[in-house]
Amino acid sequence: MGWLEGKVALITGGGSGIGRALIERFIEEGAQIGVLERSNEKVEDLKKQFGDNVVVVQGDVSLLEDNERAVSETVKEFGKIDTFIGNAGVFDYFTSLTDLPKEKLNQSFDQVFGVNVKGPLYGAKAVLPELLKTQGNIIFTVSNAGFYPAGGGPLYTASKHAAVGLVRELAYELSPKIRVNGVAPGGTLTDLRGPAALGQENLTQSSVDNIEDLMRTTNPLQVVPSPKDHTSAYVLLASNTDSMAITGVIINSDGGLGVRGLHSVAGGEHL
Ligand code: NAD
Repeated sequence: MGWLEGKVALITGGGSGIGRALIERFIEEGAQIGVLERSNEKVEDLKKQFGDNVVVVQGDVSLLEDNERAVSETVKEFGKIDTFIGNAGVFDYFTSLTDLPKEKLNQSFDQVFGVNVKGPLYGAKAVLPELLKTQGNIIFTVSNAGFYPAGGGPLYTASKHAAVGLVRELAYELSPKIRVNGVAPGGTLTDLRGPAALGQENLTQSSVDNIEDLMRTTNPLQVVPSPKDHTSAYVLLASNTDSMAITGVIINSDGGLGVRGLHSVAGGEHL
């Protein structure tokens, strides 16, 4: 028997990467899934790939009405929601303050914060009435950039620090009925895109030189996780049976970035 037998989860940004791995894993664990995804192409692909256990809604997480539609479609199909996973996100491809064009600042801020901060906030607002009924839980996909500099530029890093703030504030406000936690992946090979305002909407990680080596050599465990490698952390946090006393917590799934040490050399061996 799976960890999430009979449960229903709503996952945003399920079209690829970590979100898609979560759909597969949650189904394996016995759950049924609603998905809110912006890309038409990925929506069609998800509909083809997954059968009756998934309902896919095309929409934008930065619009409250799209989150509300995803909630109502999921409840219409599966009767309830036990877990909301605010996962959709966009990167800024390390665009520094120096490199941010003045005339693009406003729009690029709105686009990154629209997806990475409004997304989880609006999703939580839309799903709240359903989670109160099931005494369910919320999980946000944060990032190493929610804790440390140099995991993005100022837009991405600030947006993920804001996501940490949302986890803590909502965990406080929604207790004792709803647990709110996060998972903070480190560098992972996915289809992560950037904001159109910076011309990064079609950029992929393969555009960064030696991205895999960069990911591997910056974390003590020297790992480049696949999206699937992060999914157990979400399964644990989604299970009220297995994490009933856990709220306001973020699981860092980043190869140990918090224990790099003051004197470590990138890629250095300690054993
Ligand atoms: P991904 O691009 O493969 O997946 C993100 C999905 O979200 C895509 O399907 C995309 O179409 C969708 N999406 C984007 N904007 C949307 C919107 N406005 N409304 C609805 N759907 C939208 O990338 P991923 O790496 O799997 O990203 C998932 C999460 O993981 C993001 O929050 C990202 O910041 C976070 N993260 C990724 C990494 C990494 O290295 N890949 C590291 C840390 C954190």
